[in-house]
Amino acid sequence: MKGAMNKMKAQKCSICGAESLTRKVGTESFEYKGKKKEIPNYVTYECSECGEAIVDSATLKESGKILKDFQREVDGLLTGPQIKAIRIKLGLTQEQLANIIGGGLKSVARYESGQVCQSKGMDNLLRILDAYPQTLKIIQRREQTVKLSAKVTYIEDARARKGYRFKDTIYSPDTKEATYGS
Ligand SMILES: [Zn+2]
Repeated sequence: MKGAMNKMKAQKCSICGAESLTRKVGTESFEYKGKKKEIPNYVTYECSECGEAIVDSATLKESGKILKDFQREVDGLLTGPQIKAIRIKLGLTQEQLANIIGGGLKSVARYESGQVCQSKGMDNLLRILDAYPQTLKIIQRREQTVKLSAKVTYIEDARARKGYRFKDTIYSPDTKEATYGS
């Protein structure tokens, strides 16, 4: 009991600084594009001094993932568990899938955990891979060729975004920097 009491340090309100926070557990309602989502066991700390309510950090993290999936459902995008199921069905690791669809290992992990929403284009690609797994071979074959020129393409993309023209661009293989002709 003593140990438990020690853990329950009085928390200061981050708004007014008063040690008058009360832990509350309830069901919180969220709305996205007219659709409602209720999250149970939603923990907040309410300050009796200033009336501010602070969301518990674990609740914030967990509800964030739930709401990202809810948002994807409403938007007609695949949810995290659905993306994971497609990847498992294709027999791929997160890294292998990332190499195929692009975006890096962290993106795939974040799509699956619900931290990040995939784009509509990425969503379509995943659906096509799910419906026609044989298309995987086409992408994998191309991936081998694309890898070689990926660095140069990246530089070109970056320059293009900044509005550079690269008609007369010469790339130095040593510095990976582009020089520009007149
Ligand atoms: Zn307060």
